Amino acid sequence: ADEDLESVPLPFQTISVSSTESRWSDTTPSVSKKKIQSWFQLPNGNWELAKIITTSGTESVISLPDGKVLKVKQDSLVSANPDILDGVDDLMQLSYLNEPSVLYDLQYRYNQNMIYTKAGPVLVAINPFKKVPLYGNNYIEAYKRKATESPHVYAITDRAIREMIRDEVNQSIIISGESGAGKTETAKIAMQYLAALGGGSGIEYEILKTNPILEAFGNAKTLRNDNSSRFGKLIEIHFSETGKISGANIQTFLLEKSRVVQCNEGERSYHIFYQLCAGAPPSLREKLNLQNAEDYKYLKQSNCYSITGVNDAEEFRIVMEALDVVHISKEDQETVFAMLAAVLWLGNISFTVIDNENHVQAVENEGLLHVAELIGCDIEDLKLTLSTRKMKVGNDNIIQKLTQSQAIDARDALAKSIYACLFDWLVEQINKSLAVGKRRTGRSISILDIYGFESFNRNSFEQFCINYANERLQQHFNRHLFKLEQEEYIQDGIDWAKVEFEDNQDCLNLFEKRPLGLLSLLDEESTFPNGTDLTFANKLKQHLNSKSCFKGERNQAFTVCHYAGEVTYDTTGFLEKNRDLLHLDSIQLLSSCTCHLPQIFASHMLTQSEKPVVGPLHKSGGADSQKLSVATKFKGQLFQLMQRLESTTPHFIRCIKPNNLQSPESYEQGLVLQQLRCCGVLEVVRISRSGFPTRMSHQKFARRYGFLLFDNAASQDPLSDSVSILKQFNILPEMYQVGYTKLFFRTGQIGVLEDTRNRTL
Ligand code: ADP
Ligand code: MG
Repeated sequence: ADEDLESVPLPFQTISVSSTESRWSDTTPSVSKKKIQSWFQLPNGNWELAKIITTSGTESVISLPDGKVLKVKQDSLVSANPDILDGVDDLMQLSYLNEPSVLYDLQYRYNQNMIYTKAGPVLVAINPFKKVPLYGNNYIEAYKRKATESPHVYAITDRAIREMIRDEVNQSIIISGESGAGKTETAKIAMQYLAALGGGSGIEYEILKTNPILEAFGNAKTLRNDNSSRFGKLIEIHFSETGKISGANIQTFLLEKSRVVQCNEGERSYHIFYQLCAGAPPSLREKLNLQNAEDYKYLKQSNCYSITGVNDAEEFRIVMEALDVVHISKEDQETVFAMLAAVLWLGNISFTVIDNENHVQAVENEGLLHVAELIGCDIEDLKLTLSTRKMKVGNDNIIQKLTQSQAIDARDALAKSIYACLFDWLVEQINKSLAVGKRRTGRSISILDIYGFESFNRNSFEQFCINYANERLQQHFNRHLFKLEQEEYIQDGIDWAKVEFEDNQDCLNLFEKRPLGLLSLLDEESTFPNGTDLTFANKLKQHLNSKSCFKGERNQAFTVCHYAGEVTYDTTGFLEKNRDLLHLDSIQLLSSCTCHLPQIFASHMLTQSEKPVVGPLHKSGGADSQKLSVATKFKGQLFQLMQRLESTTPHFIRCIKPNNLQSPESYEQGLVLQQLRCCGVLEVVRISRSGFPTRMSHQKFARRYGFLLFDNAASQDPLSDSVSILKQFNILPEMYQVGYTKLFFRTGQIGVLEDTRNRTL
């Protein structure tokens, strides 16, 4: 007698199996007399559910939903799950864990506004691009009281809090995904939950207010996302012994400085510039000689000033209020705005040719005047800094005049530097305000919102760094999941050696090996005065061609085989971006001016004065401009980050964008699939597949399939019944393992039993 014989399908929500004990529902009602269904891939790449009409030899006749009947090779079909598993809230519950089944499950849920789905220990979040009724106090309350088990950012955050308290171990919530996939929103949703549960001291309000500030200064409209974060962020939220938030610390990574001076048609520079231009009160406008956004060349070049649905003036008000909340004084705020104005005016400085060697001089226009006034320096000094370079040759100081393009580079480098310093300084001030101080207990939850794997038609230094970071994070992810699996096997006495596991260590070695790795070779070439992007590319080909993850390409390009796919990098601009030098003349100018910049600048430069150093070293007045290369600094940050994450219990959220149009209700299978592969969701599935992902207790197994035994000699012993069933169905010994309490199966094994059971019922 089996209570499962009911053939009325239950609404899928109620069949979800959330216990970790079983990933298999033994209350699955039958789908009897149903034709077996399979996935069939259409020429456009989409998968359709096909009914198999007949099968003979290697061919099957199938019918598609539109009524078409086709004869196809059997191996072109991929097993589909029974209808009853439609929309399960954990992909691990699928009996067939193949790509179309995963895609279908996510789509099924997405269409009903269920944007969250679990893939075992990982939370998958699909960007709805519209308001979905899943947030707010009622929901927070429900998750807090454990009134619902539906997958959610709240649920994963709740778990982090509980595990932090229970195990006295720091936690991390690692959010990844492509630009526009919803990482930053997800991080905010997690922060809201933390604030709601751990709030009380008031500091949680301050923490939430860091979001509008960081977004104003570090986010911009891009073609992919109207509010794209152009930096990575780790926010560590500290808790007191009683589980209340006691403070926080923010670390940022790799701000995209180039956007300040250059951005593509249809994109914008950082929000704060437009907000300032639109929202500054009259007195401030006057003080800073502010114009409209259209009047600044840096903002004008991309021909895009506004964002649909966003009021920049209103946003400016919100930012100013937030700056108050995090205790940035009015005076400091004014300095910040003055520096922003200076950056904008810098872009309006132009140059005229003064001799027949194409040397230039800065034009004395309003740009030049306002910059000098805003940063507090002499106009002549500024002119000189922008059009000449002091160099030391032997014992002589010589002054080299700059050409037009050199002068523009010097000007832009100055603008980028000021902005980057300002950003770092702001984060530093915020951290002071949020500092934990004596209330520190050492327990914390960190939220990491960092750019995901990127692969474009043209990939440059930025993608190189970002993908390297993702390679590191992927290893962290793999190792963690692998460890989780391992623990479960060991607990049940399973032979662990039978689980294969693929590591991305080779690719990491390609980046990190010294002296012959991508990063070392890049730094080495960056220190050679005669090094160019081409000599760098050639050096890579010379030393790394034998590596399995590396391929030299034509011209100055190379390909890296990342875990998420191959990416070809164009080395154009690599050396310059890696050196990221600011002329010593500019540094001296900035440290001598009468505004607050020297302080801002000093702390920024100090953090960069460690070894190794990239050249060429400009010597002047005895001072060396020493500076870490960008790649080395980033690697250092990344190692520090990994070290911090290593000591936490991680929780992973993978954000997915269902279309490239930022539009609701469009789910492009191909796009989703590519992201599932890149952000490791299918990897989780793959790791599980290489192990024994399907687990069922001996009791459940015997109860569910015992009636299929030929001799029907069901004993009272579930373990021996289980073994008889396995024998009768010829399940190969390498396809399962018998644990102390459970049977462990390789993927797909139980499908055969299930099909037979359904046919028999
Ligand atoms: P990312 O940080 O991954 O680049 P964002 O978090 O900025 O992406 O999300 C991009 C946009 O998508 C947001 O501005 C918002 O309009 C929308 N979005 C993301 N997540 C959600 C959500 N949970 N609910 C509603 N809209 C969302
Ligand atoms: Mg973001």
